[in-house]
Amino acid sequence: MRPERGGLPAAVSSRGAILLGGRVEADGYAGRLVRVVTHAHEDHTIGLASSSRRALFVVATPVTLRFLSVLGKRVPPHKVLELDYDRPVEVDGERLTLRRARHIAGSAQVEVEGSGFRVGYTGDFKLPGTPPMRDLDVLVVDATYGSPASQRRWGEWDAIAALASLVEEGLRMGTVYIYGFNGKLQEVMVELRVRGVSAPFAADPRTVQLARIASEFYGVSVDPLVTHDKVVDGEPVVVFAHTSRFRSSRRRPGLHLRLTGMELRGVVYRVSDNVYNVSFSDHASFREVIEYIEEARPRRVIVDAYRGREARFTAKYIERRLGIPAEAQP
Ligand SMILES: [Zn+2]
Repeated sequence: MRPERGGLPAAVSSRGAILLGGRVEADGYAGRLVRVVTHAHEDHTIGLASSSRRALFVVATPVTLRFLSVLGKRVPPHKVLELDYDRPVEVDGERLTLRRARHIAGSAQVEVEGSGFRVGYTGDFKLPGTPPMRDLDVLVVDATYGSPASQRRWGEWDAIAALASLVEEGLRMGTVYIYGFNGKLQEVMVELRVRGVSAPFAADPRTVQLARIASEFYGVSVDPLVTHDKVVDGEPVVVFAHTSRFRSSRRRPGLHLRLTGMELRGVVYRVSDNVYNVSFSDHASFREVIEYIEEARPRRVIVDAYRGREARFTAKYIERRLGIPAEAQP
């Protein structure tokens, strides 16, 4: 084992790589033997091209690997190590296991065990649905919402229920547009189908492809689902589009719904006559981050400051409230 900063067997590098034990880098490049991709989001595939050249293996769940290929992130086939949840693999004296995380389809937590240490990284997650990794010497945690100031006052269920009723209402008048990030859009498709929304869904070809993969993962059909070139303005169809499409599409007739965990004014916030923000997030709220750590009881916590905005506050809070030594890195 090559101990990291301060002698700890885990660290977050200045370029956002999570270093676990002596062999594994997760979600960033650090020139190590094994690269793990916890899920297919952009801020977790940093340096993947470099890792693909340098590392011996690129490890991810089967769904994440399929997502990556749809998103055009190529990993040389001879370096791909497809790993299901809870199936440990031994690499040069260290044991690597992916654990389930609820975030987007295929998301994983990472656990690495070596001689005399056991460390873990949550990746992006939310609760419930992400079993805490226990008995860790060091836990590296994602805290997208890192303080009580960003705490939503409603649960995910309230947000989905509010979204479903807005969608039903909008469909009575015509087309409904839902904007969100990859992964979140596909999860919402599934959640709406589960709640009985039966209108046709439409999206760009890439979003449709990701939805087909996610639908298999969740075990819920998202049909009827077509590509959006088949949609006529005003038809009762739910169009799913990447958040970046909002500016160019918002003038179209219909109801426009933006999914954003940053909306704290209400579970649904009316921006204008036909534009609403729905406060739905794929990340643990601040309270859930604390809840996870409380249950996991690691001996030490590192809060990922590369991705979280309030990591230093979060670390201080963990030390004071839970009595667990904690720091923000990098
Ligand atoms: Zn993510």
